[in-house]
Amino acid sequence: MMFNKKVLVLNSSERKKYLRHTLPAVLAFLMCLWSPAGVVAQEEEEVLPTLEITLPAAPTPVPVPVVVIDPGHGGKNTGMSVPEHVVEKEYVLELARELKKALQSKARVAVFLTRKRDIPVSVLERTTLANRKAADVFVSLHLSDDSRMYLYINHHVDEKNVAQLYADEIEKNAYIVPWDLAQNEQRKKSKQLGKIISKTWNEYTSSVKTKGQEARVELVTAPIAVLTGIRAAALLLEVPLPKKKADETMETAGEAAKQEVARNLARGILRYLAGR
Ligand SMILES: [Zn+2]
Repeated sequence: MMFNKKVLVLNSSERKKYLRHTLPAVLAFLMCLWSPAGVVAQEEEEVLPTLEITLPAAPTPVPVPVVVIDPGHGGKNTGMSVPEHVVEKEYVLELARELKKALQSKARVAVFLTRKRDIPVSVLERTTLANRKAADVFVSLHLSDDSRMYLYINHHVDEKNVAQLYADEIEKNAYIVPWDLAQNEQRKKSKQLGKIISKTWNEYTSSVKTKGQEARVELVTAPIAVLTGIRAAALLLEVPLPKKKADETMETAGEAAKQEVARNLARGILRYLAGR
């Protein structure tokens, strides 16, 4: 005989409770003497086990990496001027905009420019913006006068000299880190960023390489004022001068070069940020 009923396996106390509620007392007594492994339930409802559910903690927001791009020069400080009206301050501002676009098209990243227009900006203002925004990466953009890309890392600043310079402030506040020393403790990160950008740039240039050309990127350590106070991986980049082909104007060559440089710098910066 088939019963279209569910079999509930009850333990002895559950069984007693069940019988008490469903059978007359005498029958219940007899049933208690009989102790099968299971009884046929009269109800269709399945007894669900009690589950203890631990809710996950509210997710902590994932911090968005911050990149500060510093277009060099501005205002009366035009930077380098090369034939056919390539002016460094304009070129690097447009490159900064391209780099911002390239970064944000590939990843969730906050990008700030130290200047958005053709205005003069002091070294202190550039440094302040980067540190206030808690930058993870700072890149100062300049134009090189040859076909190579130069990446500058700030030299190690002599701590004794700076300590003497700021002796009064340090005495008042033991936790003070003079801005002159801020980059010292970040140099390892800056070197790492430099290596990754060099590698990315070399990969790109070797893919379009013509025979007999020398290394296209150089990593240089030098005293760089705009990097000294930056509390982040920081580089000053001199990007290669756009090279025009016979049938091109400097303007169209510059446009293409800016796109290439921006795309490859963005790749390098994002690789660095992903690998931290
Ligand atoms: Zn410059």
